[in-house]
Amino acid sequence: MNSGEKLFGRLLNRQSPPPQVAPDTLSVPSVGLQVHLDGEGRVLHLTGPLRHTLAPQRLSTQAPPLLDYLMPHSSLVIEGIPADWQGQILDLDFHSVNGHPLHLRGWVLPLADNWLLQLLDISDVLVERRQSCRREQNQLLAARISEQLRLCSLTRLPDVLQEQLQVLAQRFHIPCIAVALLDEQEQGWQIHQYYAAFDAPMLWQNGQRLGSGLDSLNGSFPQHLTRGEHPRLQETFGHAEGLAVPYYDAHGVATWLLCGFYTAQQRAPELNDGDWLQLTAALASPLLERLREHRHHLQLERLASLQALLGTGWWEVFSDSAEMQLAPSLASSLNLASPRLTLGEWLDHVHPADREELRSRLHALEDAGTPLLLCVRWHCEQAPVWYRLQGQAIGMGKNRRLVGFMLDISDIKNQEQNAATAHARLDNLIASSPAVIYVQRYVEGALLPTFFSASLLPLLSLTLADCTAGALIERVHPEDREHYFERTRRLLREGTVRARYRLRDSHGEYHWLLDEAKVLRDDLGLPVEAVGLWLDVTEATLATEQVKQSEERYRILVEDSPAMICRYRPDLTLTFGNRPLATYLECQPDQLPGVNLGHWMSDDQRQAFVLRLSQLTPQAPVSTAEIYLQLPGREHAWWVWSDRGVFDAEGRLLEVQAVGRDNTEVRRSQQQLTQSAKMATLGEMATGLAHEINQPLNVMRMAIVNVLKRLNNGDVQIDYLKDKLNRIDSQVQRAARVVDHMRVFGRRSDIEQQPFNPADAIEGTLSLLAEGMRGKGVELRIGEIGFAVQVRGFIDQLEQVLINLMVNARDALLSKREADREFNPWIALYAERDERCVRIWVEDNGGGIDPRLMEKIFEPFFTTKPVGIGTGLGLSVSYGIIENMEGRLSVRNSVQGALFCIELPVVPVDQITSAGRPE
Ligand code: ADP
Repeated sequence: MNSGEKLFGRLLNRQSPPPQVAPDTLSVPSVGLQVHLDGEGRVLHLTGPLRHTLAPQRLSTQAPPLLDYLMPHSSLVIEGIPADWQGQILDLDFHSVNGHPLHLRGWVLPLADNWLLQLLDISDVLVERRQSCRREQNQLLAARISEQLRLCSLTRLPDVLQEQLQVLAQRFHIPCIAVALLDEQEQGWQIHQYYAAFDAPMLWQNGQRLGSGLDSLNGSFPQHLTRGEHPRLQETFGHAEGLAVPYYDAHGVATWLLCGFYTAQQRAPELNDGDWLQLTAALASPLLERLREHRHHLQLERLASLQALLGTGWWEVFSDSAEMQLAPSLASSLNLASPRLTLGEWLDHVHPADREELRSRLHALEDAGTPLLLCVRWHCEQAPVWYRLQGQAIGMGKNRRLVGFMLDISDIKNQEQNAATAHARLDNLIASSPAVIYVQRYVEGALLPTFFSASLLPLLSLTLADCTAGALIERVHPEDREHYFERTRRLLREGTVRARYRLRDSHGEYHWLLDEAKVLRDDLGLPVEAVGLWLDVTEATLATEQVKQSEERYRILVEDSPAMICRYRPDLTLTFGNRPLATYLECQPDQLPGVNLGHWMSDDQRQAFVLRLSQLTPQAPVSTAEIYLQLPGREHAWWVWSDRGVFDAEGRLLEVQAVGRDNTEVRRSQQQLTQSAKMATLGEMATGLAHEINQPLNVMRMAIVNVLKRLNNGDVQIDYLKDKLNRIDSQVQRAARVVDHMRVFGRRSDIEQQPFNPADAIEGTLSLLAEGMRGKGVELRIGEIGFAVQVRGFIDQLEQVLINLMVNARDALLSKREADREFNPWIALYAERDERCVRIWVEDNGGGIDPRLMEKIFEPFFTTKPVGIGTGLGLSVSYGIIENMEGRLSVRNSVQGALFCIELPVVPVDQITSAGRPE
């Protein structure tokens, strides 16, 4: 057996115990260790090279027992005495000087009386065995870890990883263990998952960013970190000791396994660098693969949803079968029954207008690999949908595939179309607008025209050639040239300008142009060109001129008008008045603003005036009335006054514009007319009056005659006398009343209307007429007037009307009786009222008015009575009076005669001033 074989046998522990040779003859080999023992197993002396490495524990005696050299667990191997050990292989671990156990294997041989224990060093064999065993275990562990990670579902992956970290931590007594991966932006490292024993300090947490400190480590080996040795790893390990094991992939370090508070050599001395690398790889490789798978999965999901959102998707043509496969989402958005169909079927869905082009492009793609890019319309029930189709050939020969995608671009196409329409519209607008767009290039301080829009020709019948810099100046109106030069200077100075000047067209006519221009500058702020717009404002300019002129004309018209023209605010303050108004008010026109019109009116007039204004509306803004004023230095004035309200958007009255005409003279003559008519009435009534006064005179005469008779007879009692005198007195009073009333009646009417009770007018009329009528045999039928009401006007004038009507009736009755002696004439007078008005009827049984004359009777001077008797003024004046009281006088024929009706508006109670309020 050579030494190599020996060693091999030794290592394999196959060596049989050596032959029992007589100790005397034994040549003591000089390898290993020889321990000379006595029969009790005490060490006599040691030989062999290994003796120097021994470190006996307690050498108390001269011949210490062998046990003193051995590690405690070896004591079991050498129970008893050396004689017992014969024929056995003894594996003994000795204390060595370096502290590690010294593994020796040997056997005992008798040597004279003693024993020789021959031992060889088998440390290397043991270490190797242990190592292979450990390697096996590690491989198993690695395989298990890797398998767990590979096979679990994606959702369980974090839990499984956690479990595996826990397994490692527990197996190798690691307090904190974590997997660090590059973060998503690859900006640095990040704790992907972390496990710590329950009593270990929290060194990290999941998701914690570690920065790039780990990059400073050598990525080829596990790195043992001693306290504070790596300043860049401060944030990763703090001051803890640790171990960082890299995992490599094709791009370099992809993962670090971090073990905190951990010294690998001490806690797992049996693991070498390779083992650490292997374990880390077992963890990291499947983890990275699964994470990639996860990302891929997410990407696919995203892609699918993106495709669905965009209405896009991939397609692939299998050239061997002329079939086509589409992404399911694309197929559904294209309304296809199945995502797999023949190329022909697919092309049938393309709009005929695009079909042949697509077919030929597909051929080109297939035959020559020409990339396909085409926008096609997809046949749809409503409008066709635009798709952008892109495709390319990938792979070569048999592996060649045609792939691409379809993208719904209807939105873009629609926008394109809209933009194109808008563009066309804009072009059209520019061409047809009354504006010319121009560009002038900036050359050394001058602006040279380089472009005019097409509207130049129709608008000014000019071309670009007519508008070169020099020619343009010539076309500007000589009076405006200075202005034009200033415009250019200002444009260059300020960047924008707006000017107005005249330009001569090719027919020699001038156009007013509104010129707006702006300077465009380059990046350095230097002018490049001016862009501008010419607007032909000839018409507007002329129109403004005309408006100015017509405004002037109207101003003159207003100023010179004989009518009074003014504007005033709703509170009656004048804002403007023309000369005639100023003349009436005895001031200058410029003194009028601020003057209050109400100043010249009585309270009643002003109230009525304001009331009338308040009734103006935007729908009925005009109102005309006759107003009465007391002007300075004049007795009184009547103006026919027409107001027009000006309203704001909310319908509030802002201002009133008024035109007035002085009606005083007309009014005066009317009054005179009324007065003369009144006098005429009075004259006419003279006979009646004579009767009226005769009556009391007769009564008095009778009384006096009787009294005288009695006096002559001497038969006068005082009571009789008293009675007669009282009668005379009452008759005197009666006559006085009549005369009084006549005096009142004969007076001129008041200037201003007053509220009064029409019953008083009826009573007054009857006091004048009743007796006379009865004297003439005319029966008076007077209706009871059981209401108190106020009307506005002049009481004497209403009496005058009533007298006229009754006298007319009487005339008709008397002339009828002349023909028929049996005829019983009567006049009825009665009244009624409602909410708004009071009506007084005068009816007779005189046979009525000839219907043919009905329309004429109110005309002045119309009469059917003989000359000298009739004046023809009675009814016409009466009509005027009633109209002036804002009432109406009308007539119709009743069964037996004429029926006149006076209708007067009632004055509402709240408008009755104290003067007119009934007692
Ligand atoms: P005059 O009484 O002076 O004629 P009026 O204007 O008062 O003037 O009357 C005009 C005419 O109307 C009368 O001439 C008469 O023909 C007619 N007339 C007025 N009242 C009556 C009446 N009650 N019955 C018939 N005719 C009448």
